[in-house]
Amino acid sequence: MTKPATLDPRPHGFDAWRAREDFPILKTEAHGKPLVYLDSAASAQKPRAVIEAVRHVYEAEYANIHRGVYELSEKTTAAFEGAREKVRAFLNAPEAREILFVRGATEGINLVAQSFGRAFLKEGDEIILSALEHHSNIVPWQLLRDITGIVLRVVPVNNAGELEIDAYAELLNTRTRLVAMTHVSNAIGTVTPIHDIVRLAHERGVPVLVDGCQAVPHQKVDVQDFDCDFYVFSGHKLYGPSGIGVLYGKAKHLEAMPPYQGGGDMIRSVTFEKTDYNVIPHKFEAGTPHIAGAIGLGAAIDYLEGLGIPEIMAHEQAVLHYATERLSRIRGLRPIGTAREKASILSFVLDRAHPHDVGTVLDGEGVAIRTGHHCAQPLMERFGIPATARASFGLYNTPEDVDALAAGLEKVLEIFG
Ligand code: PLP
Repeated sequence: MTKPATLDPRPHGFDAWRAREDFPILKTEAHGKPLVYLDSAASAQKPRAVIEAVRHVYEAEYANIHRGVYELSEKTTAAFEGAREKVRAFLNAPEAREILFVRGATEGINLVAQSFGRAFLKEGDEIILSALEHHSNIVPWQLLRDITGIVLRVVPVNNAGELEIDAYAELLNTRTRLVAMTHVSNAIGTVTPIHDIVRLAHERGVPVLVDGCQAVPHQKVDVQDFDCDFYVFSGHKLYGPSGIGVLYGKAKHLEAMPPYQGGGDMIRSVTFEKTDYNVIPHKFEAGTPHIAGAIGLGAAIDYLEGLGIPEIMAHEQAVLHYATERLSRIRGLRPIGTAREKASILSFVLDRAHPHDVGTVLDGEGVAIRTGHHCAQPLMERFGIPATARASFGLYNTPEDVDALAAGLEKVLEIFG
């Protein structure tokens, strides 16, 4: 097919067709057909630069970190701390000690819930979430609620899936102690107004945690500009390794918070009577971390910045636009989530086929999409559906991928009438 004019790589200086060459997995097949990967919101594929960086660690630069007095350990420590500095610059955090390496966004949120929450929240205190949240920004707060007796408040969304900001402003009150809100909905792509969310909370002295899992792969994030108190994301959605993620926290909070887990590296001295804790970030990084994962994440950041995040965003928005228009021509297809500001995530239902059947037929065509509740069951309930089919576009997706999706959906219609 001819590329739509908006997708010509030249106007915004980004060539997705060339970038695809960096991803070996995109050359593989599924069911004997070329793989069309449309599930980057679940996990993005890895460029060769990341694969090589991880391989290099294990082949040439691997030892345990922070403790060794020998050259190899010092090299690995420098690479690990270098990755922390890359994340700091990526988020524009003021200081590298405000960057904690964790397993992923899930662990980052649980850390704040169990450390900040248990230390500073008590019965009757309130936390504000939104109807858009992933389960990993709901359940940790419910666990905290069961221990402390706090109250969870939920900001509703309108029929387009946009956050109702007036309702949010009304929910904020003298009992509110924390706001924990997604930056981008993984299920329907809505981008939330983080500046307003933070501003309104800070007017009442309430700190804000932002779940940035689905934002960092698509747009420039500046935690100083947002002025948020915590920001979490997972490496595997940012074209990096799985099992590594980041919790950014303002130093004033991290210093006041008690440790989350105890073990090696997070201590200054230990006796059976008493332990003195290490300084941040080490206070929150008990045990041997995912060393190669952190270094691989640093390589992913280098790779993305080499391509240009604004350029990636412009390309993905063009693909989203094309896909939205192309899928609107599929009979009986209803998009779920039509917010004015969206990341490149397209959720939909077909009136003739269950999302799981849609996913299975598409899989037979080599097209990988996600079906189900997307770990956002309350949001599905809001829209009165059990599940959606979701295509999510990464930097390597092209209009040809959208056409393959549309052809697969036509096949679904042939089968299910
Ligand atoms: N938050 C959002 C918005 C997500 O999309 C996800 C994963 O899909 C998570 C949190 C949890 O991420 P992880 O499983 O990497 O910890």
